[in-house]
Amino acid sequence: MVIPDGLIQLVQKARRVVVLTGAGISAESGIPTFRQAQTGLWAQYDPEELATRSAFRRNPRLVWEWYAWRRQLVQQAAPNPGHLALVEWERLVPDFTLITQNVDGLHQRAGSQRVVELHGSLLRVKCFDHDHAAPTWEETENPPRCAVCGSYLRPDVVWFGESLPAVGLHTAVTASRRADIFLSIGTSSLVQPAASLPLEAKNNRIPLVEINPQPTPLTAACNFALTGPAGEVLPALLFKCFGWNWDSGNEGEAGIGGGGHGRFPTQ
Ligand SMILES: [Zn+2]
Repeated sequence: MVIPDGLIQLVQKARRVVVLTGAGISAESGIPTFRQAQTGLWAQYDPEELATRSAFRRNPRLVWEWYAWRRQLVQQAAPNPGHLALVEWERLVPDFTLITQNVDGLHQRAGSQRVVELHGSLLRVKCFDHDHAAPTWEETENPPRCAVCGSYLRPDVVWFGESLPAVGLHTAVTASRRADIFLSIGTSSLVQPAASLPLEAKNNRIPLVEINPQPTPLTAACNFALTGPAGEVLPALLFKCFGWNWDSGNEGEAGIGGGGHGRFPTQ
């Protein structure tokens, strides 16, 4: 992997780093996207029947089970070297903001501390009527009830037609305007409003870097575009810039490494 000298210098100098990640980095861990997970008995449903407030009102059990299934897929997956490289980078700079569109919690499982989850998390639940957070729940009933108000619990993800978490979005936009470098990783750069974050950075003359296996609508606007999977490009970048070698720190740990390919097809 050839890393341009200009990018190496930029990365080494950057004190305020903003990274936006999307489904690509999760796919490398074998986590299917929403539509990829719609296999078997789930294939018959439209996304609107599984991921909207009205769908939940109509059939709470169906929606709850859909997310229980996806939670199970996530729990079988493990962070890949791309996730681990971002953990290391956070450790090396004073100000690191990781913004993700992913709902699988893999960045946190890898060890990232400061993560802005723009689309929520599959691993958390809240109640349907009042957004009361439920730290634990029993799977005996589908869906379980809120201990505070008695309404059904639902996944704490952003459904179609819902707004993104205001605080998270504000943090993301603010960080994107103040960074020394902005990286867009494993994202198609099509889903709004996440896709506007690199443009916020660009408008503030912040250097843009893209890491993705294919070109995206953002590629032409980038100062540097590295073609390839995050699990290969990020470790190579961190090695060139900081001498970090993820392999040496993780010898013998089952489930992490080996290219990060899981048991589910990603295409
Ligand atoms: Zn409640």
